[in-house]
Amino acid sequence: MGSPVTASGAWVIDLDGVLWLAGHEIPGSGDAVDKLRRHGTPLLFATNNADPTLSDLAARLDRIGIRSGPHELVTSAEAAAAMVEPDARVLACGGPGLVEALTARGATVVETGPADAVVVGMTRDFDYGLLTRAELAVRGGARLIGTNEDPTHPTPEGLLPGSGALVAAVATAAQQDAVWAGKPHRPMMELIRSRAPRIDRVVGDRPATDGRLARALGVRYSLVLSGVTGIGHGPLEVEPDDEVDDLATLVAQAGIGN
Ligand SMILES: [Mg+2]
Repeated sequence: MGSPVTASGAWVIDLDGVLWLAGHEIPGSGDAVDKLRRHGTPLLFATNNADPTLSDLAARLDRIGIRSGPHELVTSAEAAAAMVEPDARVLACGGPGLVEALTARGATVVETGPADAVVVGMTRDFDYGLLTRAELAVRGGARLIGTNEDPTHPTPEGLLPGSGALVAAVATAAQQDAVWAGKPHRPMMELIRSRAPRIDRVVGDRPATDGRLARALGVRYSLVLSGVTGIGHGPLEVEPDDEVDDLATLVAQAGIGN
């Protein structure tokens, strides 16, 4: 049996700032995804947020009417897990999504060194004790891996520290640069390629991550102005191929589901 023939390549869709913002659906995004599905467009939902588990993410998608399979979700936690050997000892400095991905990889997750790697991702449970254990493990020879560089993430309270800030703390204390897993870096790019051999475009609100990912993949970059990049923005790290208000507008402009 040959592989099924699909009408188009996949759309790689970012979550925060494209489908939702601060936990609320960006109007029309669930309906836009539904139109893409009915059109037969393969979809990948790609997030740099390493904190939630895959079932948390699926539940969040479900709340805005989007059913998803685990193979359609791609996270920086999974990209980071792919960077360690399956039998590695890993100090996880992150949330449940990171621990889940490392465990699925076969790694042994430890709370103190010695370790083969220290993986740092977004967590609100970051304190001096955890910083100390991470620093000592890196000084003891562990490789320092950051899930993603994002310095902040937008919330109703304003811009709050992102995982990039936590990685910087460990890197500064240990005097060791981190290697990166998430968008736009190679581990995430390879994970996306392994899930979708043919890709048409990346849709995202952050040119520094989503735009650079699109360039690394050699595909179209569609910037939506529903997240961190607003109308009337200044110069961008990556010039988008499309610039639209939101996903619903992009899908309508592509002539899908009209
Ligand atoms: Mg985003």
